[in-house]
Amino acid sequence: MGERRTRVRFAPSPTGPLHMGGVRTALYNYLYAKQHGGDFILRIEDTDSHRFVPGAEEYIIEALRWCGIVPDEGVDADGKVVETASERHPHAPYRQSQRRGIYRRYAEELVANGWAYYAFDTPQELEAVRAAAEAKGETFIYNQVSRMQLRNSLTLPQEETARLLAETTDWTVRFRMPENTVVAMDDLIRGHIEVNTDTLDDKVLWKRADELPTYHLANIVDDHLMEISEVIRGEEWLPSLPLHYLLYRAFGWEDTMPRFAHLSLLLKPVGNGKLSKRDGDKLGFPVFPLQWTNAEGEKSRGYREDGYFPEAFVNMLAMLGWNPGDDREMFTLDELVAAFSLDKVQKAGAKFNPDKAKWYNREYLRLKSDEELTDAFLPVLAAHGITVTGCYACPVSADFARKEFSKNYVKNVVALVKMRATFVADFWETAPYLFETPQAYNEKDAAKFWKPENAGPALEVADFIAGFEGPLTAAALEGPMEEFIRSREWPMGKVMNCLRLALAGVSSGLGIADIVATIGKEEVRARMERIMNVLG
Ligand code: GLU
Repeated sequence: MGERRTRVRFAPSPTGPLHMGGVRTALYNYLYAKQHGGDFILRIEDTDSHRFVPGAEEYIIEALRWCGIVPDEGVDADGKVVETASERHPHAPYRQSQRRGIYRRYAEELVANGWAYYAFDTPQELEAVRAAAEAKGETFIYNQVSRMQLRNSLTLPQEETARLLAETTDWTVRFRMPENTVVAMDDLIRGHIEVNTDTLDDKVLWKRADELPTYHLANIVDDHLMEISEVIRGEEWLPSLPLHYLLYRAFGWEDTMPRFAHLSLLLKPVGNGKLSKRDGDKLGFPVFPLQWTNAEGEKSRGYREDGYFPEAFVNMLAMLGWNPGDDREMFTLDELVAAFSLDKVQKAGAKFNPDKAKWYNREYLRLKSDEELTDAFLPVLAAHGITVTGCYACPVSADFARKEFSKNYVKNVVALVKMRATFVADFWETAPYLFETPQAYNEKDAAKFWKPENAGPALEVADFIAGFEGPLTAAALEGPMEEFIRSREWPMGKVMNCLRLALAGVSSGLGIADIVATIGKEEVRARMERIMNVLG
């Protein structure tokens, strides 16, 4: 076989919001495709109409877009799944429900060459044999033994088969699993695997009732037609691999069969088991990339709405089950493309650690410029009734009475608080008093520190600040201010806490010199007056 173009696909079923494990599967496919200079295809597998959820497809596309995982085929620039073939999208449509006309002849082909048969059992009949088996303490499996006791084209006379095919609509095409055959498979992550077909059942491939293929048939036919070179998917599909191998054999497509890689599951942070939506609710972290509201109006948290940067989310996800072989943890998407390889994807499940997700966000927050962070902070300020005016080159101004601040003032605040923040919204939580004059004072702190022997000196320090000459920066102020306190032999900590109580409403938080340099002399004086009026 000559050099084959790398073509991989992410093939979600629109049955709900994409779980973060699904995003990781998409990401690994994307990284693999880009690293090999190939194509990343998005295919929507929506042949199970019972499980279709409105909005899920749009959600998937938006989630991938937020992560920067952009398909080469399957989705157009406007974010819609492509419906008509073109040079860029030669295999359209990419939504399986729109390809329904394609699959029937492939199902019939397998019946004709003996790899499949028509099964006429009604759902009621199947229910009855299932119940009968259960009554005997057994589980019913549709396989080489049971199929010979059921109504299908292998047991019925030819004319009866022809009549049922023509006159009824309940029939299906089932795969005829060969007897006692070892299927030898290779997985790029798990290595060599062998399974005996006697352990497998006769899966439905196509259903006359809705004239639709099942997942197995549609998946194999489409991977073949779309010239997929590698299938990278979740390990929940590993049990289907022998059937998929046999389907390639049955169609005579073994020469161009894709290679397979099954990714391990994401595990919950504590204990064992698969990471579920409920773990997120219970332990307070999102399991979905974007917020999702279900038909009942219940909301599930999303990384985007929780304030995560997409690059932090993507970096964190990439490292869940893959490592570069050394200690490096920070990777942009492009760097991941360069470093990724399937042979470093781990076989064992990857334990999700919500603290690590936060750690990544903190790291990315610190890498961002103050201006970028300021822009991201503006909506948070607006939500708190703060008006921001001017530009980054404009002079700094702060009007606490009107809650109006210049962009440069906000940028100064951001520079001050960003090292303490995990999310942009933390900028506000860290120091709301940099935008609002405290209206109340923490009672405990007030009782502890606002005593005449501290308050008096604190007022004198405020006077010292008012008379401070030269540019009022934290660096310029800090030394002389401390020297002023020390020279009078006042208790440094207590006086500082008193000042902080006046300026911030609490006695913990940012350094006094930083607060003063940010809010300015005039506001310092106003806040001292205010605390005197309130606490005396
Ligand atoms: N539609 C399947 C899913 O939702 C795709 C599995 C595969 O990639 O083969 O997971």
